[in-house]
Amino acid sequence: MTSTDPHHDPSCMDDFDPASLDAGQALAQIVDTVSPPREIETVALRDALGRVVAGESRSRINVPGHTNSAMDGYAICSEDIPARNRATLSVLGTSWAGRPFAGPVRPGECVRIMTGAAMPDGADTVVMQERVEKKDDTIGIDCDNQPGQNVRQAGEDIRQGETVLEKGKLIHPAELGLLASAGIDEVSVYKKLRVAFFSTGDELRPVGSELQKGQIYDSNRYTLYGMLSRLGVEIVDLGVIGDERNAIEQAFSDAAARADVVITSGGVSVGEADFVKEILEQLGTVHFWKVAMKPGRPLAFGKVGDAWFFGLPGNPVSVMVTFYMFVLPALRKMMGTSYREPLTVTATCSSRLRKRAGRIEYQRGILTLEKNGDPPGHGYRVSKTGPQGSGVLRSMSDANCFIILPMESSGIEAGDTVRVLPFEAIV
Ligand code: AMP
Ligand code: MG
Repeated sequence: MTSTDPHHDPSCMDDFDPASLDAGQALAQIVDTVSPPREIETVALRDALGRVVAGESRSRINVPGHTNSAMDGYAICSEDIPARNRATLSVLGTSWAGRPFAGPVRPGECVRIMTGAAMPDGADTVVMQERVEKKDDTIGIDCDNQPGQNVRQAGEDIRQGETVLEKGKLIHPAELGLLASAGIDEVSVYKKLRVAFFSTGDELRPVGSELQKGQIYDSNRYTLYGMLSRLGVEIVDLGVIGDERNAIEQAFSDAAARADVVITSGGVSVGEADFVKEILEQLGTVHFWKVAMKPGRPLAFGKVGDAWFFGLPGNPVSVMVTFYMFVLPALRKMMGTSYREPLTVTATCSSRLRKRAGRIEYQRGILTLEKNGDPPGHGYRVSKTGPQGSGVLRSMSDANCFIILPMESSGIEAGDTVRVLPFEAIV
């Protein structure tokens, strides 16, 4: 890339640096170092959404609780299924869902039954209503029926006392429903993580204030707030802190005292890091890395007091990328779930993408399903969003995925296959 290129992007100037750390190694080091949670609390079922199971939840009941019909039809004794031709049975009454038929069913008899209604004593088989011939108070059934058909046995889905959710399971809408079906109205979950963050930089002003010359609005606290809110952690927003020694030192001490995790943005790049480094050396143990990735090269990780610390770069896109790639997996482990790699797909890239070998890149792309593929509707196509500078937040907003270009790649041509990480797969 040359400086006459109309899409020249100053952040491309960070050349390959042999001293830089591989992004995969940085992630492994972070995830291996942080610890799972210890503190547990019991919450009401609805409040368990987005939380992580801390102790096995066991079913209070059999699900289904009673043997019941899977169809609208007639509950019969299987011995009445004729070997040939038809059999005629007399209808005793009806078993409704929630209002069972009181008496037993004997050979030669049957009960009309609704889906989900309890099977009457003596009956073991349901004949679909479409398959009977009804005449006054009798039905005719044919030989084409199997003993036990259309019946759901008590405890078929979950047995009483069986584990419904394992420790470490993240509770989604399906898990809430599953717990409810097993009669569990309180859940033992890990306590919410407390995450404190602040932005550093003399040029930053909070949104809502007037800007003087050379000042910009702080956007990183908003992207961080958004990403953290979706994780359901407790958020402590400590605002904007100027590039001033005492103020930064005070902010770090405050944050570490109030939270399990401290995240900052800005101030870890070369030239700024020095005095932040000094403060962090006093307050804890922090590694300052140059990660071989773009965006997001500088990254600090370690401990400040008792809190885990992530020092993210200042550039708005770098903040989001480093959060998703490093902080999110670490937070998931600290929340009590195990790390899993997000799902990626392969796609045909419509754009030519420039890149230097020696670092992994997360370019922002728009992923669509191929309409004219073979067969139609199969396969994905991806194109890049506009300018890819690490300060261009619009590239994240326009995008729905990251196009992941591996270390060794030195750019791709239009039509090449690339690996894509859909944003939907991240949180
Ligand atoms: P730094 O890492 O502090 O050198 O910042 C790199 C770039 O990101 C500079 O252009 C900063 O002005 C910008 N920046 C840093 N923090 C923020 C923030 N909180 N919101 C928006 N831009 C920021
Ligand atoms: Mg700064």
